[in-house]
Amino acid sequence: MRKTIVAGNWKMNGTSKSIKTLLESLTAGVPAVDGLVTLVCPPAVYLAQVKQQLGDAPIALGAQNVSSQPMGAYTGECSLAMLQDLGCEYVILGHSERRSLFAESNSDVAEKVAATLAAGLIPILCVGETLEQRDAGETLTLVAAQIDAVLQRVGVKDFASVVIAYEPVWAIGTGLTATPEQAQEVHAAIRAQLAERDADIADQLSILYGGSMNAGNAAELLAQQDIDGGLIGGASLKADEFLTICAAAT
Ligand code: 13P
Repeated sequence: MRKTIVAGNWKMNGTSKSIKTLLESLTAGVPAVDGLVTLVCPPAVYLAQVKQQLGDAPIALGAQNVSSQPMGAYTGECSLAMLQDLGCEYVILGHSERRSLFAESNSDVAEKVAATLAAGLIPILCVGETLEQRDAGETLTLVAAQIDAVLQRVGVKDFASVVIAYEPVWAIGTGLTATPEQAQEVHAAIRAQLAERDADIADQLSILYGGSMNAGNAAELLAQQDIDGGLIGGASLKADEFLTICAAAT
């Protein structure tokens, strides 16, 4: 059965104190429901604190990025072994902020996905177009190319352990959300792209929507046939909003 996944991407936000308060509400409120996976992705420096506070709550731990290198002279980077050591199960990869602000290319992202899969963690592969690309009618080709770069590196069978997040760049942090129809169109195209290579894997693939998803719009987005959860930024920093989104996903 295809899993529904609600993931909080906290980005570069929070302090030990604010995270403690947020997690008190989340650990008390996130529902334990079959078929629903909830996870939080704090800044790397707080992963250990978060893991400890999560205890046996039904919330998994994810990182926001990782190096594709195993170890060594890579100042400022974290390895997959380190993330595993701290109890991470998921890694967000290819987020548009990494692509645009840190110049990560499709092939960099593909290397990270391959390394993450080899380490046994689950990549959350982010794809999505800018407003210019949407206006130019390039959305579906651009997203297909982002996914194809990874498919060429790891092959379709490995997508059994990949989660995809469609995040239109113009909807991230802007308060502009893709309409359910706009999002569904891209999600269906992604699934069709995978189905051309392996129908079963495409059917099992969880495809999340991200971009100004909040307590008010989550239900109608999640009601779409090919939207299998959300990757939530701003609203994941507010316990009541995040819990409302989790409830909408059950
Ligand atoms: P917002 O929910 O703040 O728009 O961010 C979405 C996002 O980038 C999640 O990865």
